Amino acid sequence: MRIGIFGGTFNPPHRGHVTLARAAVEQLSLDKLLVIPAGIPPHKQLPAGSASNEQRYEMAVLLAGAVGKCAVADDCELRREGKSYTADTLLQLREEYPEDELWLLMGSDMFLSLHTWCRPEVVCRAANIAAFSRCEANERAAFEAQKANLEQLYSARVAILDNPNVIEVSSTDVRSALSAGGGEELLPPAVWGYVQREHLYGTDTDLKHLSVDELRPIALSYLKPKRVAHVLGTERTAAELARQYGVDEREARIAALLHDCTKKLEIDQQLKLCDAYNIDMDEMERATLKLQHSRTGAEIARHVFGVSDAVYDAIRYHTTGRPDMTMLEKIIYIADYIEPNRTFEGVEEVREATARSLDEGILLGLTMTIEEMRGYGTPIHHLTMDARDYLIQQGGTTI
Ligand code: ATP
Repeated sequence: MRIGIFGGTFNPPHRGHVTLARAAVEQLSLDKLLVIPAGIPPHKQLPAGSASNEQRYEMAVLLAGAVGKCAVADDCELRREGKSYTADTLLQLREEYPEDELWLLMGSDMFLSLHTWCRPEVVCRAANIAAFSRCEANERAAFEAQKANLEQLYSARVAILDNPNVIEVSSTDVRSALSAGGGEELLPPAVWGYVQREHLYGTDTDLKHLSVDELRPIALSYLKPKRVAHVLGTERTAAELARQYGVDEREARIAALLHDCTKKLEIDQQLKLCDAYNIDMDEMERATLKLQHSRTGAEIARHVFGVSDAVYDAIRYHTTGRPDMTMLEKIIYIADYIEPNRTFEGVEEVREATARSLDEGILLGLTMTIEEMRGYGTPIHHLTMDARDYLIQQGGTTI
């Protein structure tokens, strides 16, 4: 495997980091890219008002999502005590990946000062160096001189690579722009969303009065990268159905954008939220992660974003359904089930049924869910059974 290693303070990660990382993945044909936020950076002090380690890690995860599939955030430097020396990180990665080709990525400032780092000989022995310009000015001569220098001093293996979409920006610039009320265009959308929801770097966004366009990047910042397309697909489908059935499109979009906002949390984090928001769960909900996320997601939507009761309920019942659902609840339930990224067997039939009538689509969706869970031998929440029975009593049929 060819593995790229992209370290930085990422305080916050910006679009300049994305372009460098994408250029590296493409030009080095990387199989994997590790995005590694520094715990205690050796080169610079974290200024007052910086994001915490945990927040920088969360943003590194979002940076990896913006770069693409092979990129993953790695918290090895955050877990290590003391200053985050790259030499230590590379020695650790060498042990983890003994057979693989390691490439350490860096922009001009880091590359041109590499000989001043702690144990540069270890750095150059453990990995190949990939150097990228971080400005539009021609830095070729300085890069070539440094390459020759490092080759001579440490037998380094250096590649000077193009950064074709270079963006001249630093995290320092971004922090100033953010504290002055701007900065959106300098950040990947989900990082922009994260900065606002955590009120970082002097931002003071009123999360309870957002337009749909303002909410979207913030909602995306809650998601694992692989879930982003699903949530955007759910939003599109929910908006189409809302227009078709005369339901408030804004409410449908908000519910769709937030419906999975706690989906990535593990059970202990879900239970913490249940405590914080006094969520009274039944026995089955307490044992089932999938059922918890609709309960905790609805609370986040209400308490953080001030959504209406109708949106709250649409999120709360999007997994189980319930008898006598409102139109908005039905739209979110079915949009989540049939949005364009869904590919499971039978989804086309549910799409066709929904095109005939919303209730027909939902009844088929509920029936398929019940059958699938029976097949796996997993318990089925009574609301799902009740929702199906209710629609059958109303004259619904799946045939
Ligand atoms: P700060 O302004 O806080 O010093 P920074 O913008 O330099 O931050 P870092 O997180 O320290 O960001 O950078 C991590 C790595 O990304 C370094 O190798 C750096 O050279 C590189 N880099 C930073 N900004 C750019 C950019 N705009 N284009 C290309 N590479 C960049």
